[in-house]
Amino acid sequence: MEKRTFGKWSLIHASALTALSLFAAPAGSVFADAAAAASSSVTAAAAAATTSPTLPTTAPAPTTTTGTTAPVRNTAIPPMTDADKASKLPNVLVIATGGTIAGQSVDQTSFQNYKAGSIPIAQMVSELPDKQKIADVETLQFGNSGSSAYSMADLYDLSRSVDEALKTYDGVVVTSGTDTMEEIAYFLDLTVQSDKPVVITGSMRPWTVVGSDAKANLYNAIKLSASGRTASFGTVLMLNDTINLARGVTKTNDYRVDTFETPMLGAVGYIDETTIRIYRAPERALLGPGKGKPVFDLSKIKKADLAKTEIAYSYQDAGGEAIEGFTAAGTKGIVTAGTGAGGISSAMSKARSKAIEQGVVFVTTTRTGSGSVYGGGKGIISGDNLSPQQARILLMLCLSLSSDFETVKSWFATYGVTEIE
Ligand code: ASP
Repeated sequence: MEKRTFGKWSLIHASALTALSLFAAPAGSVFADAAAAASSSVTAAAAAATTSPTLPTTAPAPTTTTGTTAPVRNTAIPPMTDADKASKLPNVLVIATGGTIAGQSVDQTSFQNYKAGSIPIAQMVSELPDKQKIADVETLQFGNSGSSAYSMADLYDLSRSVDEALKTYDGVVVTSGTDTMEEIAYFLDLTVQSDKPVVITGSMRPWTVVGSDAKANLYNAIKLSASGRTASFGTVLMLNDTINLARGVTKTNDYRVDTFETPMLGAVGYIDETTIRIYRAPERALLGPGKGKPVFDLSKIKKADLAKTEIAYSYQDAGGEAIEGFTAAGTKGIVTAGTGAGGISSAMSKARSKAIEQGVVFVTTTRTGSGSVYGGGKGIISGDNLSPQQARILLMLCLSLSSDFETVKSWFATYGVTEIE
């Protein structure tokens, strides 16, 4: 895979963005009042939600589980209603995984005392006002828990569900906990094959507290997805009225509502009520619809093919045991979160050399939170300015589709660096 060259696109002009928004305009579709459609199931589910993260009683039959003890994941895409199809509004499916946005607080001022992943998405959508201004909305309760509860096999199912939904819906919103949202977002960004808009959102305050960002974020995420403005952008993350590309975004604060930022590169746009301003476009959008599809097509692999990939953190006099342990456990790839421009301790370096002899592929990144890492060598690829946790998602997908070092390296050059020449 070669690095993409854009020539005239080395500077992104406003005219390009105008053209993008033209081809990205949503196809006319359908209307129905989602609140009405959801009504009876919502009432039952709402009652259950106050006590436990029980799924709605009318949730589609589970079609996928990840093992005998793993939680059920619902992947049955709800069909659009006839009213949805007949209306002119875009059709958006909200696929919910839980998180603080679905959090039930102890009382209306318990900003931190709440149970994440409690309230069913059908109830949340039914409580949103003015949906008729932006979209026809249907929901899928994929799961309902904190973001860290999801396995890579779950993310495989989530991604394939998004692609399945986009065969009929005009856009998808994924709700998730914010803790690992940057990893979930990047996984979707690299694997979803459709060019239609995918927006991931969540919140820092639970649904049920005064001044919560939850309703505003869900509403604006639906608005953004329905607008079609981020078609061919891959997955974008929208919280706090701010649109970030999945690649590069990171949670920078554990409590603030403006927690998500993209170090070095910045946000790509903002939502101010009815105005959606997109100031920059990713290379995928510049290639045009259908041309920037990521190579990581999950329909070509099984969940069991997802390669075990880990992160080893370096610090003063760090030992080599983490790398040795990961290698002994059958890990195929290890990302090192290095000091400064990617340096690791001498004990880690020795362990890395031994692991490379055993076929483990390494990616070097920096633990500083910002900045690029260059270079590489035998068995070692540089992660550019990917965070360790996003480099690990890319390495995992690379090693799930290929065991050839040069192929993995070239995919890092293409998908990891995303440089425009
Ligand atoms: N613990 C939550 C989660 O990641 C935090 C959040 O949703 O903001 O699921």
